[in-house]
Amino acid sequence: MRVCIIGIDGLEYNLVRKWKLRGLMQKRYGYFIVTDEYFNKEGVPYTPKVWATVISGIKPKEHKVSGFYSWGKVLDLIRRAPIVRHIKGKRFLAYKLGLKPKASRVSNSLFDLTEDAIAVYVPGYNDVLKVYLTILKSFKGGMFLKEGLNEYVKTIWRIHKLRKKRTFEEIKKDWKLFMTYFDLLDLLGHLYYVKYPKKLRIAYMEMDRVVEKIRRIVPEDTVILILSDHGMEESPDSITGNHSGRAFWSINIDTEWRPEDFTDIYKAVVRWLGSS
Ligand SMILES: [Zn+2]
Repeated sequence: MRVCIIGIDGLEYNLVRKWKLRGLMQKRYGYFIVTDEYFNKEGVPYTPKVWATVISGIKPKEHKVSGFYSWGKVLDLIRRAPIVRHIKGKRFLAYKLGLKPKASRVSNSLFDLTEDAIAVYVPGYNDVLKVYLTILKSFKGGMFLKEGLNEYVKTIWRIHKLRKKRTFEEIKKDWKLFMTYFDLLDLLGHLYYVKYPKKLRIAYMEMDRVVEKIRRIVPEDTVILILSDHGMEESPDSITGNHSGRAFWSINIDTEWRPEDFTDIYKAVVRWLGSS
């Protein structure tokens, strides 16, 4: 069978239920609890660690991906310099100085399983660093100003449209394994979860439509797996959204299979690709 994986960062199980988003639910759906091996220092699920495991099938302690990108020794040097110790955004400083980061990559992935594999901006494999930096820059540019925040939201939607455009261009091609990735719900979830749930719902409905459209395009013998790296919940200070420990999944076929850990995805994809 063919396999189509739709990675949706930060998609929260409870909101899919609450807003009854049938497109996202598919035939079977649920969630599993993310274990602490995928956490960051703040004690919540950490996005790059999770996606690296999803595509490689190996645990974080083996793939060692601990960020979207690494600045290597250069940043370590800057960090240690006493004069910049108090400056926030040292990475930006490094970037301004013309020091280029390297995107974190896993060495072996799902996309080596077949020659007919297409990955659209998948973290840990071929995500475009520029996309990430654009978002980050826009965020730093005005997180305390209302206009700055509007600018940030516009950037998030612009990047989403870019991901969508590429997805629908690539999905029309011939493939056995297809994976795409969307960050809209994570980025807006942090902003909107507590104070603007209506705006967040618009974003969830958008993803519901994207999935429906994908389902109409892919060939019939395709397993469609939707997966999130974590969900979203209220932060302890009740100001923003925080990563929840629920990893959402849904599938378009009748099966008893249920993922219990991110390493299960790789094994399942191997099996699906090998069956007719
Ligand atoms: Zn995430």
